[in-house]
Amino acid sequence: MDLTRAVSYLISMDDQIYDAAIVGAGPTGAALALGLAQAGLSVAVIDTRDPAAALKPDGRNFAIVTGSWRMLRKLGIAAQLENETQPLLGLEAVDGGTHFFGQPSILFTQDDLDSADPDEPLGQMVMAEPLQAALDRAMEAADGIDRIAPDYFASQTSSDDAVQIDLKSGRQLKARLLVGSDGMHSPVRQSLGIATEGRDYDKSVLTANVLLSRPHEGIARQLFTPEGPFATLPLPGERANLAWYMQRGAAEALAAMPKADAEAELNSRFADFAGEMKIEGEAGSYPLILQLATEMTGPRAALVGDAARRVNPLAGQGLNQGFRDVAALIDIAEQTLHLGGEIGSPQMLEAYSQARRFDGTGTALALDAIDRLFSNDASWTKPIRTLGMIAASKVSPLRRFLTQKASATEDGVAGPMRDW
Ligand SMILES: Cc1cc2nc3c(=O)[nH]c(=O)nc-3n(C[C@H](O)[C@H](O)[C@H](O)COP(=O)(O)OP(=O)(O)OC[C@H]3O[C@@H](n4cnc5c(N)ncnc54)[C@H](O)[C@@H]3O)c2cc1C
Repeated sequence: MDLTRAVSYLISMDDQIYDAAIVGAGPTGAALALGLAQAGLSVAVIDTRDPAAALKPDGRNFAIVTGSWRMLRKLGIAAQLENETQPLLGLEAVDGGTHFFGQPSILFTQDDLDSADPDEPLGQMVMAEPLQAALDRAMEAADGIDRIAPDYFASQTSSDDAVQIDLKSGRQLKARLLVGSDGMHSPVRQSLGIATEGRDYDKSVLTANVLLSRPHEGIARQLFTPEGPFATLPLPGERANLAWYMQRGAAEALAAMPKADAEAELNSRFADFAGEMKIEGEAGSYPLILQLATEMTGPRAALVGDAARRVNPLAGQGLNQGFRDVAALIDIAEQTLHLGGEIGSPQMLEAYSQARRFDGTGTALALDAIDRLFSNDASWTKPIRTLGMIAASKVSPLRRFLTQKASATEDGVAGPMRDW
């Protein structure tokens, strides 16, 4: 293509008004792009990551709950992850503060799901890298998605009928709806002037994959200690991903230690709980932060995923909450089109805010309360913790309610998360 044609091609592209411009192609932004494109919308996806470059190593192992997994099936992603997942068959918890290494409380099993398919697991354990790789491939293959990467969102200006987006490269584009799925620091949220509330836990979580000496049977096991939880999350084969909460600095130091020293420390603390463990690959550490955006929307703009809320990962709900945002936004966009409404209109954004604001905030605060209750040694908390464990594990209706809520299978969940 000669230079004049290339320039006029770029100008004509940038004259286009996309239905949606999504900033951030992490798991929530990519899933949203696929869902909106499947609904027939034109979508631009902007990300700092070069799609041609290899993904960075990532130690997170996501518990993708049933509702989220149903959405990934609908988007064509689940089939691509067939050999990468470990079905999650149950969740056990031990309150190490009251009866260290006592009998575990069986919190949830498959039976509590009440699914039409009795073999449907509670969810699927998937490592962050294969999930992102599958989403990237699907975006590449999809019609209706223009990927603009590597580039950086710089600023936005909205008018009544569209929003103009300026990128660091100097490129500009227009869309009816701007979505910030650009993670915890969200430049989109900042540019919209949306404030955040929350707290820094001054703790970090150490992650590592380990070879187990005891079979995991598809069960995620969590030990609550006064310092914070220690969890083994099942992986294919007799392997698990660890999430070990510690004071800020300690997790970072342990992740940087020679593997043999880190392994000795791990086994001296937790071999009685989980059996002997052997670390595979590199350990990583992530700071724990609670952060809630005070608004989910701005003029012609919406936030999804960590841009809207960063929660304590103790119950594996962060990405699942983000996927709930995605499912709601896809559902509301489809309804808007069906009713002849306009993408990005105040009515559409109000419907999204109503659907997601309180659920997301409620979950974040509930996880914060669990962390405060279990991650301390105060004697007054012990009876409440014991009662909570007994209630959650022994009272069937409560247990079923919690399971369906945690796995996003309760009545009223947004379209793409329903059984279909
Ligand atoms: C240790 C740990 C374990 C976890 N386990 C679970 C779990 O089991 N289950 C679960 O549901 N959740 C879990 N989470 C939470 C989960 O990791 C996050 O909720 C999820 O990754 C958020 O995804 P996102 O797409 O919203 O944001 P991100 O993954 O942060 O993606 C943001 C994207 O935006 C891009 N971006 C940023 N700035 C710009 C810019 N200016 N211009 C263009 N692009 C930009 C970035 O390049 C990135 O690709 C865990 C978290 C931690 C720390």
